[in-house]
Amino acid sequence: MPSCIICHLQIDESKDSFYECENEHPVHDKCLADWLLHSQNCPLCSDPYSPSVLSKFKGFIEEKEKEKQEALEEELRKEAMKKMEKVTNNIIFLKFIETIESLIEDKNYADAIDLLIESYNETSFDDQNLRVLFILGKANYLRGRYDLAINFLFKLVKLKFDYPDGFLFLGKSYEALGMKDKAEWAYQRIK
Ligand SMILES: [Zn+2]
Ligand SMILES: [Zn+2]
Repeated sequence: MPSCIICHLQIDESKDSFYECENEHPVHDKCLADWLLHSQNCPLCSDPYSPSVLSKFKGFIEEKEKEKQEALEEELRKEAMKKMEKVTNNIIFLKFIETIESLIEDKNYADAIDLLIESYNETSFDDQNLRVLFILGKANYLRGRYDLAINFLFKLVKLKFDYPDGFLFLGKSYEALGMKDKAEWAYQRIK
């Protein structure tokens, strides 16, 4: 009994469906179908399979290729969606920051801080959240709540050391409380 050159299991010529290359290397029907998705040559001798063998698998290969194409398109669609979501999210965030900045400009610190606290996420450390943390510190400094400003800004620079404006307002807050050494320490960290 011959054995399949792909799976090495025996081929029962009386009931198994199988094919051969021009050099009579036998392969199971199903083993060959999978192989043809990668190559049209016999895995053993590398000779191409005859057109009559290949034509038997034409439908199967086309279907698999279509599936692959569809999966790829789905993947691209998802990626595009994700990008769109990110862009939308950024636009919404920038609008939000604009609103906050104009409240601060109007010295309406209470409303600005309420909105910031609402959007602040204790468990996220992305750039947007760090920005919220910074403005929370800055707004509290501007309304004279230096203790709260220090709280927020200290949290910020602990999460992101490279945040010069964070250290600037941290220094100003310490200075406002008469803590000169700590103010100096913060100012030295502005690059
Ligand atoms: Zn096989
Ligand atoms: Zn062969």
